[in-house]
Formats: sequence, C-alpha cells, structure tokens
Amino acid sequence: MLVVQKYGGSSVGDAERLRRVARRVVATARAGRRVVVVVSAMGRTTDELHALARAVVTQPPRRELDMLLTAGERISMALLSMAVQELGVAAISLTGSQSGIITDENHTEATIVDVRPRRILESLDAGRVVIVAGYQGVSRTLEVTTLGRGGSDTTAIALAAALRADLCEICSDVDGVYTADPRVVPDARRLEAIGYDDMLALARGGARVLAASAVETAARGGVAFYARATEGEGEGTRVGAGAPPVVAVAARCDGAVTVLGADAAALAAALGGVDVRDATSDGRVATAFVDPTRVDEAQRRLHRRFVAPNG
Ligand code: ASP
Ligand code: MG
Repeated sequence: MLVVQKYGGSSVGDAERLRRVARRVVATARAGRRVVVVVSAMGRTTDELHALARAVVTQPPRRELDMLLTAGERISMALLSMAVQELGVAAISLTGSQSGIITDENHTEATIVDVRPRRILESLDAGRVVIVAGYQGVSRTLEVTTLGRGGSDTTAIALAAALRADLCEICSDVDGVYTADPRVVPDARRLEAIGYDDMLALARGGARVLAASAVETAARGGVAFYARATEGEGEGTRVGAGAPPVVAVAARCDGAVTVLGADAAALAAALGGVDVRDATSDGRVATAFVDPTRVDEAQRRLHRRFVAPNG
C-alpha cells in the first residue's frame, strides 16, 4: 500500500513540529506502508523570501525568484529526512526536479505537464521513505520553477495520481474542510465529504484549506484525498467523486463572498445593510463583492442564514 502525505508550512514550522511530523511519518512506514511525503516551507519562510527579494530589488526577475523560493521547501525536506532517519527509518529527500515534476516555463505560476517519478520509485523499492520538496518542478529546458502559492498541495496530488497511491492525505493545522472559515465563524461545521466542484468553488472563493490548482489536478486525475489534521486521529474531510452537494460559505480578502447552495438574490438579501456589488450565480454557486473590511461580518451572516439558521 502506497501513501502520499503532505504537510503544510505550520505543521513543519519549527524543530519540535518537524520532529512530530517525523514520528507520524515513521508510524505510517512501520505499519508496512510505502510512504511519499511532500513538505511545504517552514512557517512563513516563503513570505520572508519574497520580502527579502523585494528588500534587495524593486522587481525581482521571476526566474531568480523561483530559484530563491524553491529553497524554502528544500530546507524542510532535508530537515524532515534527518528527523525520520534519526528515528531509525531509512529516508531520502528529493527536490521537485529530482522527483520528476516536469512543468511549463511559466515562472512563479508554473503548471505541471508531466510526472516522471523514476527516482521516487527506485527509492521506495530500496525501502526508503521519500521526502519531496513541494511547490516546485523543472521545465523541459531545465529551468527551476514554482507552482504558485499553496502549490505543495498540487505536488502531492500530482504525485498521488502518477504513483497511483492508495491513500493521499493533505495534513495541516485544520482538521478538514468546514462550512466556513472556523477562525472567523466559530460554529462552522466540518464536512465529512465534498465533491470536486464544490471544493473548487470554495477554494476559489477563498477557503485556504486547499489550493484550487490542487483540486483541479485531483478532479482531472480522479484522485480522492483527505484533508486532515497533522495532530490527532480525526478522519478529516474526504474530497472526491460521489459526495452529496454541500451548503457552505467562503470569503476572500478582496471582498468576494461565495455561498454554495444559494442564488444571487438570496445572497444579496442575506447581506441587507452591507453594500453589495455584482451578486451573480452560476449553478449552485453565488458570489458577491462587499467592502473588504466587512468580509468577516459577511461570512458570519451568510453562515447564519444558509448553513446554521438554528445554530
Ligand atoms: N511554500 C509555498 C507557499 O507558501 C507553497 C506551499 O506552502 O504550498 O505558498
Ligand atoms: Mg507555505
């Protein structure tokens, strides 16, 4: 059985957390599974590297920005591999390029065009846990690229598809996909399951739990996966075909608010008193724009109206 596990930036945010992730990885390996791990950069590393580039020059060339940004995930992969090995399990870290993640040349927003995981398979066959740097790849002309913010999710899904993994887990500090952002709406509920289209609408609408490009990749490859917490035993949320339609809300910092399971008129009515612009609906998905300073309030109101009217 082959498992792909992805760990987000806050899950590998410091030495102690990296060691905790190593213990989780080792537990999976000791249960007899073949394990491929994809890691994000530690904590706010990617933001800090962006800031560093902009402290040096006003307009960093995108090729060089990619060289810089890919360093973030290299740090995590090397440290996690060390921590896994110290626990007595063989491991090897590989960059996106070494892992065969082939992309186009669109620096900072590259798209994966092929996955040639020969090196990963050889390392698995040699009995190693393979730890892959997320968010990066290499073009056919050997240029190093990154996949856009949140791109480690996409790396994990693309690898799960190419390796025909039996299980793919996207692990972070939230234990699944919620009916709203639980940091903004305290009574938001965790969803047991969600379909690709609904998940894509929430991701595009601003739900930060999964990157939209990862959900697109999963839908295209028919890869079902779980969004779950790094800590604890929770089931998380299954993302895949066959889930019932959900009612949920999402918001973006640019003022876009999205409701699944309502139409534009109902959305605008529920936001009465908030200045609403351009309420539109497309199938089950309604979106409007509000003043960006009022998105949290709007998200709470929409949740109360459509998801938890009695809650
Ligand atoms: N480190 C990158 C970012 O912060 C990629 C990722 O975390 O998935 O966007
Ligand atoms: Mg990150």
